[in-house]
Amino acid sequence: MEHNQQTNSRPSEKTLALLEDLIAFDTTSRHSNLSLIEYIESYLSGFGIQSELSWNVEKTKANLFATIGEDNGAGVVLSGHTDVVPVDGQDWSTDPFKTTEDGNRLFGRGTCDMKGFIAICLSKTESILQANLPRPVHFAFSYDEEVGCVGVVNLLEELKKRTVQPRACVIGEPTSMGVIRAHKGMLFKRCNVHGKSAHSSLVDQGVNAVTAAAKTISYIDTIAERIKQEGPFDQEFQPPYTTLHCGVIQGGTANNIIPADCRFDFEIRNLPDHPTLPIFNEVEQFTRSLEPAMKAVDPAAGFEWQTLADYPGMNTDQQAEVIQLAQTLLGDDRQPGKVSYGTEGGHFQAAGIQTVVCGPGSIEQAHKPDEYVDLSQLAIGEKFIDTLNATIASGAMS
Ligand SMILES: [Zn+2]
Repeated sequence: MEHNQQTNSRPSEKTLALLEDLIAFDTTSRHSNLSLIEYIESYLSGFGIQSELSWNVEKTKANLFATIGEDNGAGVVLSGHTDVVPVDGQDWSTDPFKTTEDGNRLFGRGTCDMKGFIAICLSKTESILQANLPRPVHFAFSYDEEVGCVGVVNLLEELKKRTVQPRACVIGEPTSMGVIRAHKGMLFKRCNVHGKSAHSSLVDQGVNAVTAAAKTISYIDTIAERIKQEGPFDQEFQPPYTTLHCGVIQGGTANNIIPADCRFDFEIRNLPDHPTLPIFNEVEQFTRSLEPAMKAVDPAAGFEWQTLADYPGMNTDQQAEVIQLAQTLLGDDRQPGKVSYGTEGGHFQAAGIQTVVCGPGSIEQAHKPDEYVDLSQLAIGEKFIDTLNATIASGAMS
C-alpha cells in the first residue's frame, strides 16, 4: 500500500461534479476534443464569458481561451491541456472514464493529468468574476499536449495578436502543488531508412536498411554517452544532462531477405539552454556519410526524417515575479524545482510570458492505469486559486 499524506481537506462538491463531467469525455489525443470544448464553452457562457477557439487544420480539435473579468491589462493565464493519454493495454480496476472515489483519492483517466486543474479553474470562475479584479485571469485550455505540445502553438499564435500580453502563466500540470521553474525540452524524430531488397546470399545486390539503421542508432548512443561524460550539466535536473534515446525500431521480414525498409524513432530531451538542432545535425551528418555506398547500389536508397514533436525547454528565472507569486500563494519557501518531463511552459516562455508549472496531483500517477489524484491535492489547488484571486484583488499585481 502506497503511503499517502492523510489530510481531512476535501475539494468542493462543485469541483468534484465538474471533474466527473470532464473525465466522462474520452479526450484521448487521437480523438476529437470538441465535445469537451463545447461543454466548457457553454459552462462559461452561463457566466456571460465568451470563449475564443483556435483549431487544428482538420477542425476536429480546438483550444479554448477565455478572459474572466474585465480585459483591462496584463493578467495571469491558467493553462491546462484537455487531452489525455490512451488507456489501451492498461489494466484498470475502475472505469477510466468515470470518476471513482475511495475516500482519499479520486480515480479516472485525467484526474491527475490534468483535468483536475481544469475542473478547479471552472469551479472558481464565479468567484474570480465576483472579485472584480483589476487584472484579468485567462483560461487557456489546449488540445494535443500529450503528443508533443502541438495544439498550444495555435493558441499562442492567437494570443500574440492581443495588444496587451499576459504577464504570467501557471501551467497546472501535476507537481503535487510544488513550484517548478524549469523543465527539459524535447525533439522527437522518426527515421525511415530505405534500402534495396535482394536474396540474402546476394549481399552485393542489396542495401540492408536494418544494418544502416543499427549503425545510426549506435552512433546516437555514442553522442548520448559523450554528452553524459562531457555535459553541459545542470545538477538541478535528474539526470543532469541532455539525453538521447531510441525507443522503437521496426524492419525486415525474414532472415533470408535483405531488408528494404527499417524505421526507428528517437528523442533528444535537452537542458533548456542546450539546443537540440546541432545534436540532430550531427546525427544527420552521420547518415549522409553512409548514403554514398547505399546509393551506389540503388539511387533511391537513403535516410528520410520526420519531426514528430519539437518543444522548447522552460527556464524561468528564480527571481521572476511568477515564481515569487506562486511561492507566496502556497507559503512555500523551498527552492523551486526543475524537472525532466516536458510541458507547454516552454512555448509560453518562448512567447515572452513568465511561466511556472504548479498543479494538483503527482506526476507519479500520470499516464498509469488507475491514475488518481488525492482529494487533498484538489483542495490545495482550490486554495491556490482563491489566494491568487485575493492577491490580484488587493492590487498587488497592478
Ligand atoms: Zn499533462
